[in-house]
Amino acid sequence: MTEELTPDQISNIIDEVVRQLRQSGIGRQSLINSDSNLSSLYSNHKDTVYAQNKIQGNNGIFQNIEEALDAAETAQKQLIKLSLSKRKDIIQSMRDYALKNAERLAKLAHEETGLGRYEDKIKKNILSAAKTPGVEDLENLTVSYTGDDGLTLVEGGAYGVIGAITPVTNPTSTIFNNSISMVSAGNSVVFNPHPSAKECTNEAIQVLNQGIIAAGGPSNLLCSTSNPTLESSQALMNAKKVQLLCVTGGGGVVKAAMISGKKCIAAGPGNPPVIVDDTAIIPNAAKHIVDGASFDNNILCTDEKEVFVFNNVADYLIEEMKRHGAYELSNQQIDAVMNVCFENPHADRPDLNRKWIGKNADLILAEAGIQINDPKIRLIIAQVDFNHPFIQKEMMMPVLGIVRVNDIHQALDYAIKAEHHRRHTAMMHSESVSNLTLVAKNMDVTIFVKNASNLAGLGLGGEGYHTMTIAGPTGEGLTRARTFTRQRRCVLVGGFRII
Ligand code: NAD
Repeated sequence: MTEELTPDQISNIIDEVVRQLRQSGIGRQSLINSDSNLSSLYSNHKDTVYAQNKIQGNNGIFQNIEEALDAAETAQKQLIKLSLSKRKDIIQSMRDYALKNAERLAKLAHEETGLGRYEDKIKKNILSAAKTPGVEDLENLTVSYTGDDGLTLVEGGAYGVIGAITPVTNPTSTIFNNSISMVSAGNSVVFNPHPSAKECTNEAIQVLNQGIIAAGGPSNLLCSTSNPTLESSQALMNAKKVQLLCVTGGGGVVKAAMISGKKCIAAGPGNPPVIVDDTAIIPNAAKHIVDGASFDNNILCTDEKEVFVFNNVADYLIEEMKRHGAYELSNQQIDAVMNVCFENPHADRPDLNRKWIGKNADLILAEAGIQINDPKIRLIIAQVDFNHPFIQKEMMMPVLGIVRVNDIHQALDYAIKAEHHRRHTAMMHSESVSNLTLVAKNMDVTIFVKNASNLAGLGLGGEGYHTMTIAGPTGEGLTRARTFTRQRRCVLVGGFRII
């Protein structure tokens, strides 16, 4: 059942994002708007802006990928003729339109995909709209060399048309995030949405295109197809007009992009472990783990997916997690929940039952015959051994396995193995600098969060910018505007040396 946010709750979310923006200095223009009360702007206009500005035509959505590619190619040529200050205006307008439609699109995404939590999808949309770096991210990219032979500049130029493949789990927020990054860098984009999220994804693209046009930018800078399929995704990967691929999804799409023969930025699956040692402040650790692992019902790739806790503090941690909204399964109940979560629970490598991906904890428990009457329960926890599927599988459900360990070496060994070398995300709760340093160095992940939930690593409650595309397999890490530029050298011989 959808949980409606009160206007106060929405304002609080926005205020938190604005507070962090103020600290980070990203998106200064957004701050100007927020100073004139972004919260009320957002809640007053959220439903009306889109309707008022509805424009005629396909607004970036085409019947097939080929038509989308033609339009995106034309639009990109128009974009790079515009000044950088106009590009900044365009990005600001995209942010404004995204923010004004953040709640509506969260609702659409929740209704269409049936995944996650509506209120968390609003947070993801707002974060992506407000905290994705814009054109300013390119400003200190340029490098110059001067000497007797003159001046050489190295700058980050646009690729051209980017082919972007997006997931069902963060459909509208990935569109906001990828679009702001890619257009800031001077590119146009053809998206292939996940087929199960095509309506909300294409709606998000249309909202942003309206923002672009309202700021005087070209139409069809962001394109997509009304009928995305695996075949259209493959067609995008093979299209001559695509100069760069950016895929966000599971292992299959990452592999397909990496063997496509095109330059690709690939953001793949994770299975983020959390280590809790016996120096941790346990009540804080418990709260952060429950908040993180239940965020959007654990469908975020960075969400906490398994816990390794020192034996001597395990009982305390579990009790605190229960206080913060976790329900602990008994041994018999573990089997019942396994039968819900997996198609073939007793197979060596069981498959998730897709019907239960991203569903609320109380619904999963009810299906397993466990009735709870506590609306605070957001997460199911279970003490299991290391080889249990709750530990080894990327559980895209609010179900979290907990394993007791003897010391930091066993915790690290288990965490590295459970992460499956995906180089994605890990968390740790500890006050021991040496334990934290040991794990930070050896986990070899792209995001390592200390003493907070995974969301701090995405810029919510932690310093730094935000992204929805974390490119572990290809090494770009947390993508941003500069990630979508290609290095170009401009050499001027015999002049402009002034030293
Ligand atoms: P998915 O892999 O099923 O689909 C992602 C996209 O890839 C979809 O548009 C789909 O149509 C396309 N696709 C899938 N297989 C393909 C193939 N063989 N060839 C061409 N296109 C293909 O993933 P999902 O269920 O939408 O998303 C969840 C997964 O994505 C999880 O594993 C999650 O960890 C991961 N993810 C990672 C990040 C990140 O930043 N690293 C972000 C979001 C999601």
